[in-house]
Amino acid sequence: MSVTVTAHQSVGLPDEEYKALREQIFDAIWSELDPLERRIEDEEQIPNDVVVPILARIGALGLLVPREYGGSGLSIGQYLPIIAEFAKVQGGIRVMVHVHNSFAHALSEIGSDEQKLAVLPDCVGGVHSVAFALTEPGHGTGADLGSVAVREGDDYVITGEKWLITNSDIASHFIVFAKTADSEVSAFVVDRGTSGLSIEALPETMGCKGGEHGRITLSSVRVPASALIGSEGEGGQHLERALEISRVFIAASSLGTSERALQLSIEHSKSRVTFGKPIGSRQAIQRYLAEMATDIYALRGLLADAAQKWDSGRRIPAEAAMCKLFGLEAVGRVTDRALLIHGGIGYTRAHPVERLYRDARLNWLEEGTPTIQYMVTAAQLLDGYTFDDAFDVHDM
Ligand SMILES: Cc1cc2nc3c(=O)[nH]c(=O)nc-3n(C[C@H](O)[C@H](O)[C@H](O)COP(=O)(O)OP(=O)(O)OC[C@H]3O[C@@H](n4cnc5c(N)ncnc54)[C@H](O)[C@@H]3O)c2cc1C
Repeated sequence: MSVTVTAHQSVGLPDEEYKALREQIFDAIWSELDPLERRIEDEEQIPNDVVVPILARIGALGLLVPREYGGSGLSIGQYLPIIAEFAKVQGGIRVMVHVHNSFAHALSEIGSDEQKLAVLPDCVGGVHSVAFALTEPGHGTGADLGSVAVREGDDYVITGEKWLITNSDIASHFIVFAKTADSEVSAFVVDRGTSGLSIEALPETMGCKGGEHGRITLSSVRVPASALIGSEGEGGQHLERALEISRVFIAASSLGTSERALQLSIEHSKSRVTFGKPIGSRQAIQRYLAEMATDIYALRGLLADAAQKWDSGRRIPAEAAMCKLFGLEAVGRVTDRALLIHGGIGYTRAHPVERLYRDARLNWLEEGTPTIQYMVTAAQLLDGYTFDDAFDVHDM
């Protein structure tokens, strides 16, 4: 297998500090954020004035911001259990936390020192937030772009349309992808306040409710040349790099949602009595539970392997795509089984499995559809990727 060793090796936070941070975040997830579920689902609106200060206070907005910029600089292995825990409660909050951390992390890897210094320190307190502006209404998935950036003296002038851009309500900066030549994609850091940039909310989503995934119009938006990330034409590489590890974050979100669905299903299997016995005593229900647990166990293994490889400094395009693909299929099966176990009451809003089922569905779309994961994985396989060094049974 060809492995590119890069500079992203990460040891993360020292153990004791990490444990304390994680405990503080887990406590707040259940004591302060979970109680907001009904309000957010009913109003289809996250109260940013309540949620963002909580997230900032508990350290959830600086998780992947490097320590030299004031963040916690977690390793991926340390971050995954935290984003998984967020995926157990109201999904809109998970998406907000995911996008904020994922693209602050991306900027920390691909941005210049000047770009990082201007944006990252204030991400930690929630004053700044980085959003990812790739998808377009008039063009295809990924690098099929209609947005263009034209060099004019010391500036670039960007024109185009983006939509479904998460955190468009709270983002201070957007990583915008645009063409600088016919087959050349480039990436820019664009300040929200730049003249010519306008944002319009899109209709509410099926699940992960309450966040804004807006439509962004760039009408001759003039940015200094220093807004370009790297060099012209490097946008494709930046895109791959940002989405690669972010796909693992989505798979971890699938894990959290699956774990919550299983926990609720076990509880329901014990408490719901039909024909004089708890439904959990029936083999049919036991089979569902066992299948759910098997998906979760497999997904945990995939995530542990991907995190370990990334943290040791490796690129993991195939592993990340497989994690994301398996994760979305697993969470689909698990939330489906959870609904079956809950019977009719699970289909009502009286029970969180109804929300988990809807929230899970976003995992299909974030960081690319299943089709894209097939394409990435197959391209790696055809380019010589093998499992040779991925699983050494002799050492076990
Ligand atoms: C709630 C939400 C939040 C989002 N947040 C963001 C965000 O923050 N930033 C951002 O940039 N995007 C975001 N997106 C967009 C998301 O990443 C895309 O919707 C997703 O990648 C699919 O792209 P598309 O909508 O353009 O679908 P399309 O490209 O129109 O695809 C439609 C179908 O055709 C298939 N398809 C398309 N092209 C091909 C091809 N060449 N070969 C084979 N199959 C193909 C797709 O797999 C899919 O099944 C968000 C979407 C949602 C719903």
